[in-house]
Amino acid sequence: MKCPVCSKEMVGQDFGIKVDVCKNGCKGIWFDHEELVKLDEKNEGLGEALKEALNYPRANDGSRGQLLCPKCNIPMQIHKYKRAKEVNVDECYNCGGFFLDSGELTEIRDTYMSDEEVAAYMKKLIDEVPEYQMAKADIKRMEERAEATRRYAKFMRISYWLGREK
Ligand SMILES: [Zn+2]
Ligand SMILES: [Zn+2]
Repeated sequence: MKCPVCSKEMVGQDFGIKVDVCKNGCKGIWFDHEELVKLDEKNEGLGEALKEALNYPRANDGSRGQLLCPKCNIPMQIHKYKRAKEVNVDECYNCGGFFLDSGELTEIRDTYMSDEEVAAYMKKLIDEVPEYQMAKADIKRMEERAEATRRYAKFMRISYWLGREK
């Protein structure tokens, strides 16, 4: 699978959950939907991969357009995490995967959300984003997506603490 940012071949790694890491390029990390829902904050091996990405300079600038899903080859949707800053996270609405760009980590770390903020964020997505309105018919999938996002945001908060220990 090719990295959606730098087109280098990504390397599959198993940290208890399987992810694809852009080891030879931008250090971005791809999470399959099935793996993302298993993600929990105690995953230390993955924490190391995150730290590596955290310390890597951003491979592209913040004004980049939509990335193509490395699995489905269709444009992914950019999540705008608004807090002090704006952070992009790319989600494929087709397969439910998330791509974490190297530079994005640093920003998420600085703008990590509480559980309440994640809940509010998900509600906003469901109410305002047309693709999510269409998906409303599929409640189960919506719940899975919310759960995946919740775990992802929670994991990012852990990377925040890892970063602080340096
Ligand atoms: Zn890359
Ligand atoms: Zn996809």
